[in-house]
Amino acid sequence: MNLHEYQGKELLSSFGVRIQRGIVAKSAKDAVDAAKQLTAETGTGWHVIKAQVHAGGRGKGGGVKLAKNLNEVEEIAGQIIGMNLVTPQTSAEGKKVHQVLVAEDVYYPGDNEPEEYYMSVLLNRGTGKNMIMYSTEGGMDIETVAEETPHLIFNEEIDPAMGIMPFQARRVAFNLGLSGTAFKEMTKFVTALYKAYVESDASLFEINPVLKTSDDKILAVDSKVTLDDNALFRHRSLAELRDLREENPIEVEAGALGLNYVDLDGNVGCMVNGAGLAMATMDLIKQAGGEPANFLDVGGTADAARVEAAFKIILKDPAVKAILINIFGGIVRCDRVAQGVIDAYKNMGNIDVPIIVRLQGTNADVAKELIDNSGLDVMSATEFQEAADKVQTVLS
Ligand code: GDP
Ligand code: MN
Repeated sequence: MNLHEYQGKELLSSFGVRIQRGIVAKSAKDAVDAAKQLTAETGTGWHVIKAQVHAGGRGKGGGVKLAKNLNEVEEIAGQIIGMNLVTPQTSAEGKKVHQVLVAEDVYYPGDNEPEEYYMSVLLNRGTGKNMIMYSTEGGMDIETVAEETPHLIFNEEIDPAMGIMPFQARRVAFNLGLSGTAFKEMTKFVTALYKAYVESDASLFEINPVLKTSDDKILAVDSKVTLDDNALFRHRSLAELRDLREENPIEVEAGALGLNYVDLDGNVGCMVNGAGLAMATMDLIKQAGGEPANFLDVGGTADAARVEAAFKIILKDPAVKAILINIFGGIVRCDRVAQGVIDAYKNMGNIDVPIIVRLQGTNADVAKELIDNSGLDVMSATEFQEAADKVQTVLS
């Protein structure tokens, strides 16, 4: 689950990470009130208005703008709220902006060269350790830095049993070229950031940029936070921050039905029980010349009701040109699944994509008969290869 920038910053701040302060607003009028309140608290007259959507590169898309007075706050917030923000990380239609963060301007006027760093915390799956990745080249695409100047990216691996050690925090500050107050501030920043990451069960923190102000404060100007969905049960208040408007609507609907569905770009919808079989089935679709339109694991209890629900979900994706159902009847009986497919097909009316059903396991022969005698445009298959061949035929 991803958080908005403002939610991520609140989380960081609660662990003692210094942040660029801000107040979220849903209308231009609220934005003006927020700006007034910030001015009272921080003394700053200038504000940045930042679109709150789950996508990076907002600055490039016109979703982050500086306002030098309250009129500009109102005008810019009015422009940004309601717009479809297109960034290098969104689709061509962009993402609808429902709210903005009104933030204090931390790039002080007259401060010509604020230092911007990049910092992220993530799991290095190779070593099984958390890792702080950081760079002097903040404020720009880290992908570009990785490609063109990889020596400017540093990693600090953290032993999970020990946590971040003081010498490690100092090494980060040193490699970023800091000294004096800024050095100390950076060690505090990175230590608090790492603690926040571990204690919130996050899977990714990305702070770009981390800013050094001309008076040597180190603060998070942006925040991208991804939390581990499997740990949300122990973070109720974080789970409540979920903004379903930012997520793929088909995935949200599938999730509510308890289906494990991930939307993909291809043309062959698939419905499978068991994640391993689902992966193998996606390989099979590729080999047959198709591209999977989704990953869908209906789980061990693939009964008729679940099959029907899954069917409906797959058909919501307009890119689907064929559907492959690949179910192994271990706990569930194949004839029940077959009946579920037939019932769902009839209930749904005009399905105009070919369907291939491979059922293997308990009562597979009965299931095949049911499908073959259903009079519907559904093809049965028993063997894996046979299913692949049929997918290939319907695609060509
Ligand atoms: P992103 O484009 O989605 O990564 O959004 P960021 O939060 O990183 O903001 C984009 C850019 O806006 C930053 O890299 C800064 O250059 C700029 N920016 C952010 N906060 C301020 C601020 O307080 N003052 C000024 N002048 N620029 C800011
Ligand atoms: Mn950023």
